[in-house]
Amino acid sequence: MENCIFCKIANGEIPSATLYEDDDFRVILDLGPASKGHSLILPKSHAANIYELPDELAAKAMVLAKKIAGTLTDGLHCDGLNIIQNNGEVAGQTVFHFHMHLIPRYAGQKVGLTWTPGTLSEEDKQEILGLFA
Ligand code: 5GP
Ligand code: ZN
Repeated sequence: MENCIFCKIANGEIPSATLYEDDDFRVILDLGPASKGHSLILPKSHAANIYELPDELAAKAMVLAKKIAGTLTDGLHCDGLNIIQNNGEVAGQTVFHFHMHLIPRYAGQKVGLTWTPGTLSEEDKQEILGLFA
C-alpha cells in the first residue's frame, strides 16, 4: 500500500522506536501513548483490518502479543494490561492498517477505555445466537 504510514513504519522506511521485529511483524511504541509502554503490533504486510488479516498472521499476532505483554509487564511493573484492536472509523480506528494496541495499566491511573453496560434483550440474544447456529 503506497500511502499507508504503518506499511512504511512496519517495513522500516520510516524510523520508529522498535521493540521487536521478525519476518512478519514490527512492534513499536505508540507516538501518543495512553500510558507508559503503550505499544503497537504491526504486521509487515498490509491488511486494513481484522477482516482482511490472513488467519496465519492473526494466530501469530496473538502469540506475539502474549510475549510482548509479558516483557512489558515484567519490565515496567504495570498492574495489568489491555489489548485493544479497532476496526473501522466507528470503532475508533484512525490508521487503516491492522494493529493491536498493548496498553499497560497502572493502579490509580485512569485510561478512558470503559463503556456503560447495557441490557441483553431476548430479541438480540436470539438473533445473534442464530448467526452461529
Ligand atoms: P487506532 O486509533 O487506529 O486504533 O490507533 C492508531 C494509533 O497509532 C494511535 O494510538 C496513534 O497514537 C498511533 N500513531 C499514529 N501515527 C503514528 C506514527 O506515525 N507513529 C507511531 N509510533 N504511532 C502512531
Ligand atoms: Zn499498510
